[in-house]
Amino acid sequence: MRRHRAVVETARVHAPRFGYEEIATPIFEFTDVFSRPIGETTDIVMKEMYTFADKGGEEVTLRPEYTAGIIRAVISNGLTQSLPLRFFASGPMFRYERPQKGRFRQFHQIDAELIGVKEPQGDVEVIALGADILGALGVLSRAELHLNTLGDADSRRGYRDALVGYFTQHAHKLSEDSRRRLERNPLRILDSKDEADIALSAAAPHFEEYLTPASREFFGQVRAGLDALGIRYKLDPRLVRGLDYYTHTAFEFVTTELGSQGAVLAGGRYDGLMGVMGGPETPGVGWAAGIERLALMIAEPAPPPRTIALVPIGAEGEAVAFKLAQDLRRDGFAVDLAYSGNLQKRMRRADRLKARAAVIIGDDELKRGQAAVRDLDTGAQSDVPLGALKERLASFRG
Ligand code: ATP
Ligand code: MG
Repeated sequence: MRRHRAVVETARVHAPRFGYEEIATPIFEFTDVFSRPIGETTDIVMKEMYTFADKGGEEVTLRPEYTAGIIRAVISNGLTQSLPLRFFASGPMFRYERPQKGRFRQFHQIDAELIGVKEPQGDVEVIALGADILGALGVLSRAELHLNTLGDADSRRGYRDALVGYFTQHAHKLSEDSRRRLERNPLRILDSKDEADIALSAAAPHFEEYLTPASREFFGQVRAGLDALGIRYKLDPRLVRGLDYYTHTAFEFVTTELGSQGAVLAGGRYDGLMGVMGGPETPGVGWAAGIERLALMIAEPAPPPRTIALVPIGAEGEAVAFKLAQDLRRDGFAVDLAYSGNLQKRMRRADRLKARAAVIIGDDELKRGQAAVRDLDTGAQSDVPLGALKERLASFRG
């Protein structure tokens, strides 16, 4: 949880610097919110969604990603009146997958979306935000930014025809899923995880050759913007996003440290999405990052402050310790108080908890209005008047 929280808190520091405000969307939505925009031929919709009928007979789905839900929220709250919008979110996602290192059925994402900016500088902005967060986490230098363009609708049509031509020649070698994709959305074949499909994709035509001049110009500006900010990238013509509404820029920060689960932050432009979902045609670009994968890559954050162990001996000591614990906690100390056990047992417990100090409250000490404070790192022990305890303990606050 400490690692997990460090990832989210780092994102929360950097997102506002770019003007991204935190948003929360429901963990489940009507199935249509996801299935149409994500695309019926994608892995997510074909195999990975947790979908069920609720008690009213409505089909609902546990969210598999953020973008569709955020766009749904923008449309249903009429937020398209105040573009551009910059949103940041973090929370659980659900996909029916084979669980393994870095791949879970409930996992968590941080997410950033820039809605209403059609200029290529918008693509650069979201990538720069992602890079800053990865940099602050110490992950950027161990990841590589892969970059590609899917062009505009015209480019896609030309490329689509070329791909259909190519894969149709080799249809007998394709996986069953990809034969279905060939008819409905051939681009998705490039995203397949099937080995035979991957081998065939390696020799498939490149998108590059089918880009319209306008798409080529757009991509050139994205690249120039990244260069201007000193963000290094590698062109990756095989990078297609698993979602149908992506246009132009597609990107992915990939690391080799997590085996085959190497994608830590991925996204792209989705100019067609808002229209597909029944809202006004509005451009958008964004990304999502897997919190568990990032958490595996970051240094262990500092543990919580070490505790002060209260060690009462006898009924009177216990009564004093019970109130003292609350008093010290209100003053900001982390306090441990066990409700049973003799001196020896309680001191062992203090050791096990790696407490910073122990306050021993026995009958003899109490008679003198004192308690014994033991520094558990040095073993030094001294009697302290109860009224001066807080002062004496201040240096142990952690
Ligand atoms: P992959 O190719 O690894 O399946 P994806 O293309 O399905 O990734 P996206 O939909 O782009 O992933 O999600 C964005 C990020 O969320 C990924 O880059 C990854 O870090 C994380 N992620 C996706 N699926 C999972 C999962 N099942 N468990 C943990 N993290 C995940
Ligand atoms: Mg996946």
